[in-house]
Amino acid sequence: MAKLDGKVAVVTGASKGIGAEIARNLAAEGAAVVVNYASDREGADRVVKAIEAAGGRAVAVQADLSEPAQVARPFEEAVKAFGRVDVLVNNAGIYRFAPIEEVTPELFHAQFDLNVLGLLLATREAVRRFGPEGGSVVNISSVVATAAPPSSSVYSATKAAVDAITRSLAKELGPRKIRVNSVNPGMVETEGVHAAGFAEGDMRVQFEAAAPLGRIGRPGDVAPAVAFLASDEAGWITGETLDVAGGFR
Ligand code: NAD
Repeated sequence: MAKLDGKVAVVTGASKGIGAEIARNLAAEGAAVVVNYASDREGADRVVKAIEAAGGRAVAVQADLSEPAQVARPFEEAVKAFGRVDVLVNNAGIYRFAPIEEVTPELFHAQFDLNVLGLLLATREAVRRFGPEGGSVVNISSVVATAAPPSSSVYSATKAAVDAITRSLAKELGPRKIRVNSVNPGMVETEGVHAAGFAEGDMRVQFEAAAPLGRIGRPGDVAPAVAFLASDEAGWITGETLDVAGGFR
């Protein structure tokens, strides 16, 4: 029996990058998966097809999670398609680095509205639908929550907020058998990292030099840690932040 047989998982921002790999991995571990996407329908459909081709179950559901009115949709569709919700992976997130001179209310709100408010509201929707046996929330945070590199004040603050939310909600929801943990990746090669110009830049060189394992990550390095925390194997683990970062601190 696989780790997540019989479970239903919602993965936010799963049309590409780390989220897409998490969705595929959770499905390979037996979960039926809602593949949430904001705008990349083709990417989400590709993830669903890959899951189905491997014998799993998945549906793609559009919702821009920075828009509070849209946040309930993936959870409503999860119940419609699969009858329940057991796992939420809060992966959707954006990163916009900028020196303090270039920090604006827009830059702040773009990141906080998705990375923090969207995550909180998605968690609220999941918690409303978890059954009496509880559930598991895995937040995709980042090593920047503690490493806080230069020019990342706003982004790092969103992830520090995510870790505080993880610890607070773990205490609040533990009595309802709902576990809440963070996975904090180091630099991972994704579409978003390429688009930001990080994949070939100084940041990669600095990360590789500082990481004992000497390389940046791949989405496949992150997904198994998420599946573990989502599963009953982690049944006595809550409120934790797990760095998955090749030893980078
Ligand atoms: P990516 O840009 O490659 O993919 C982001 C995903 O989020 C996409 O599927 C996109 O459609 C979705 N998304 C963006 N805006 C959305 C919105 N408003 N509503 C719903 N979905 C939305 O990003 P990634 O590199 O795979 O990062 C995924 C998560 O991992 C983010 O939370 C990011 O902060 C975190 N993270 C990434 C790295 C890294 O180096 N790549 C490191 C640490 C943490």
